[in-house]
Amino acid sequence: MLDGNASPRSGLSANSASRVRHHNRRVLLHALRLQGSLSRAELARATGLTPQAIANIVEDLIGAGLVREAGRRKAKRGQPPIEIEIAKDGGYALGIRIDTTHYHAVAADLAGDIIETREGSAPADGEWLDFLSRIYADFAQRFGAERCLGLGLVTPGPFDTSWPGVPTPGAVSALQSRAIAEQLAEKTGSDVLLENDATAAALGEKLYGEARNLNDFFYVFIGEGVGGGIVIRAEPYRGNRGNAGEFGHAIIDPHGPQCYCGNRGCLGQYLSLSAMRRDLAAAEARGEDADAALEAWIARAGEALSLGLTTVENLFDPETIIIGGAAPLALLERLVANLRGLRPSVRQDFGADRLRLSTLGERSAALGASALPILAATTSGPANIGN
Ligand SMILES: [Zn+2]
Repeated sequence: MLDGNASPRSGLSANSASRVRHHNRRVLLHALRLQGSLSRAELARATGLTPQAIANIVEDLIGAGLVREAGRRKAKRGQPPIEIEIAKDGGYALGIRIDTTHYHAVAADLAGDIIETREGSAPADGEWLDFLSRIYADFAQRFGAERCLGLGLVTPGPFDTSWPGVPTPGAVSALQSRAIAEQLAEKTGSDVLLENDATAAALGEKLYGEARNLNDFFYVFIGEGVGGGIVIRAEPYRGNRGNAGEFGHAIIDPHGPQCYCGNRGCLGQYLSLSAMRRDLAAAEARGEDADAALEAWIARAGEALSLGLTTVENLFDPETIIIGGAAPLALLERLVANLRGLRPSVRQDFGADRLRLSTLGERSAALGASALPILAATTSGPANIGN
């Protein structure tokens, strides 16, 4: 099942009769994920559920291996309360980030700690489903299929949208439809959650990186194209059809280069790795010095990014903007160093805090992918729009 309310394969029942109970379990797990550990009384206060309901849910979750009693807290007087915490090893989730050239796969436990990572070259056309199924099967064989909460599949967006021009750079056309998640779920027997790489990278950053203590931020994903991940009140914002955040198609100059989306002068035509290769090849053809050409490209790309970021800040008033993606860290560092003089916006009083560089690098999207099934199991809101 692809519904965010769907049950992971961890023993959580998803039939309609238990829907309320299932929702309450997720509310409780969400509170534990945010707080680390809580007593039953604190869980009742944090969730608004009755102490009796909390007692029942905790018993169920302990039975399912998703939470455990962590011991007693030191108390000044009276019987100290027993702490409840998420059982790290009660299950694991698999995340795969893939584009036309590479894949990163990450297995993470229920606490979000990485158990194992793998990476390598992408398969030939037409072999995607078998390739992804094999990666799943390898992990399932070693860590147990019954303990797997699900598979987060992450790839460049948008999904189920046909641009008038050529496909999105880096995007695998076979994976640009949500139907792939259904096919993969059928083939593997696992729940599959599909997400675009920028939103997943923002989630990875929220759980493991620069954004751990942030609730409202925007993530700029610079790769073969340019994407954006929007996090509002600690939750990803996906838009009506899950395609929100296509920052690379913000129009910087309506008379600029033709973009595959049908418009001209989109940000991705200045800032992406594919734009960089195109511009550097043109400079080389003109006989220009390579270092000078790169410097000039960074200045132009930074100018375009700065224009786009002003709109992001004025629209969202985020705590900060994080720059990351699949581009080499050294390149991102040079870009950000070039961006010191951001344009005026509603955030202009915030100095250096307006911008941060991702510390996770290109693994952020794979980490975010592995977080999708964990979040689906442990948050109270919908974790994926897939329908
Ligand atoms: Zn465009």
